[in-house]
Amino acid sequence: MDATLRTRWEQLRARVDDACRGAGRDPGEVTILPVSKTFGPERIREAVDLGLHRFGENKVQEIRDKATALATEEADPGIDWVMIGHLQTNKAGVVARLAAEVQSLDRLKLAVALDRHLRAESRVIDVLVQIKTSDEPSKYGLEPDRLLPFLDELSGYPTLRVRGLMTLAINASDPDSVRGCFRRLRELRDLAASHGHDLPRLSMGMSGDFPLAIAEGATEVRIGTALFGARSYPDSYYWPERS
Ligand SMILES: *Cc1c(COP(=O)(O)O)cnc(C)c1O
Repeated sequence: MDATLRTRWEQLRARVDDACRGAGRDPGEVTILPVSKTFGPERIREAVDLGLHRFGENKVQEIRDKATALATEEADPGIDWVMIGHLQTNKAGVVARLAAEVQSLDRLKLAVALDRHLRAESRVIDVLVQIKTSDEPSKYGLEPDRLLPFLDELSGYPTLRVRGLMTLAINASDPDSVRGCFRRLRELRDLAASHGHDLPRLSMGMSGDFPLAIAEGATEVRIGTALFGARSYPDSYYWPERS
């Protein structure tokens, strides 16, 4: 057992709980999605030993490699892989086979491909619609004004259970603009509700900005660095548009 990982997990949970109380919310309303991208199967095994069983990844190849490595161990770790990164349509088959959930659904073409593969696998998965909440030129995500028609379109694909919305805030040091992105996602959730779409989950906030996301109603924060430590790849590897 890795004492450091346990300590980091406990400290992180305490910070999330504090942020909830600071916002007048019940800590039981906010879950933490550990983001294990770039960390290997040994590290994930340690996290499983701490009782964690859902892991966010943003590359299909990493899900495939880690799922394979961990499945060959004696005890089935029972991991739920959550896809949080940009997903190419031609990789939908792997995700339909291995992922428990996709939080980066941002276009109909991807929904169609996922649905086709999920039918073949006789599987149904939870999905969140990723929304572009900032004007950064090339960030992925659906344009906010497309949400209502997109939700109507998705109702034709019963293998996809639409459970909520996801966003990445603008990469800025100014807390007001970051918080504005989170607020926009919450308002979209409310707008969808007024049109009959129940979207209980809001996945927003990362290591550097989760208290603001919690203040705006996040039900899930996606945390990598604050739990697993610094990654050896720069973020530009994941977000080429930011390099
Ligand atoms: C990497 C990543 C995170 C976690 O980022 P940290 O700053 O390391 O907590 C959250 N969401 C997405 C989509 C990511 O790619």
